[in-house]
Amino acid sequence: MKPFVYQGLPSRVVFGAGSLEQLPQAIEAMGARRALVLCTPEQRGGAERVAALLGDRAAGIFDRAVMHVPIETAREAREVANRLGADCAVAIGGGSTTGLGKAIALDSGLPILAIPTTYAGSEMTPIYGITEAGLKKTGRDMRVLPKSVLYDPLLTLSLPVGLSVTSGINAIAHAAEGLYSVEGNPVIDLMAEEGIGAIGRALPKIVANPQDVEARSEALYGAWLCGIVLGSVGMALHHKLCHTLGGSFNLPHAETHTIVLPHALAYNAAAAPKAMQRIARALGRSDGHAAQAVFDLAQTSGAPVALRNIGMKAEDLDRACEIALQNQYPNPRPLEARAIRQLLDNAFEGRRPS
Ligand code: NAD
Repeated sequence: MKPFVYQGLPSRVVFGAGSLEQLPQAIEAMGARRALVLCTPEQRGGAERVAALLGDRAAGIFDRAVMHVPIETAREAREVANRLGADCAVAIGGGSTTGLGKAIALDSGLPILAIPTTYAGSEMTPIYGITEAGLKKTGRDMRVLPKSVLYDPLLTLSLPVGLSVTSGINAIAHAAEGLYSVEGNPVIDLMAEEGIGAIGRALPKIVANPQDVEARSEALYGAWLCGIVLGSVGMALHHKLCHTLGGSFNLPHAETHTIVLPHALAYNAAAAPKAMQRIARALGRSDGHAAQAVFDLAQTSGAPVALRNIGMKAEDLDRACEIALQNQYPNPRPLEARAIRQLLDNAFEGRRPS
């Protein structure tokens, strides 16, 4: 057996339909008294419900979370938290809202309780991202890892089907790259395969009926596991490409992951055959063709499969390739400029991996 290092991440997780009702006890368990509730403008209703559940433990609501955590928004939220005397923040929403909580925690050490409503998985990671002067800086710091997480599948019933599919495949991407990570280990492999399987089974049911609570629970369970994988081991080519495409070309996060993943897997297939077997098996295929399995899941679920359809321009592909090659990082197959340029072209056109 290959030697390995396993490092668990300290957070308390409560999972279950209706678990939002346990918020007061979860805040109590954190030893907090005054919570600032964070959300996007669209999710203000959910934040008000959270504040009502907290009663006089709610310090206020900050409803201006947006994608990529602009430094100005993070500063403003920190000031509001200070002014209101908050001793913790409750982030209800997707990766953008959790990201705002993390930006507050990074400076102030304020503990975060996350209530995820997408499958992005940020709540399980010590990774933060903050955008300053158009550049997104990311880093790892244990202060930003939420201390407590409430997973309530009922809160995901309102997640539009399109975003449910792309966010689910975003989660699969974390687990898929975890399976061939240089930092991989047997426990993370188990979580990754189980997480991919849960999401792969749930998505077609959610497409058929977005109100299916069992399917929503299975998807959120899978997202939790995939989030642990993302937080525990280093990612590779796929995440690097998506970071480049999202950061430099302003493409939407979950859709970009959905489109690029089959092509990143095809690129790495020959160099990571065991990981491909596990990904394909989790998605119900016995031929080990992970790239096709992910592509077919996306396409049959109605997700976009071509970068050209989500705002990428053909003339930017060379530049994207250059940026993705700027820093070397571990990847099963060495980074080869021509092959990566071809990968981007395939993703741009939405070709099914052969
Ligand atoms: P998001 O948080 O930007 O949410 C997208 C939209 O969906 C928002 O308008 C939001 O209000 C809405 N929404 C969320 N949940 C909903 C629900 N249940 N019902 C109705 N509407 C809902 O999207 P995301 O994909 O969750 O997060 C993307 C961001 O998170 C990116 O900036 C990405 O970089 C970051 N991220 C960070 C990590 C990390 O570990 N640091 C991990 C994953 C993603």
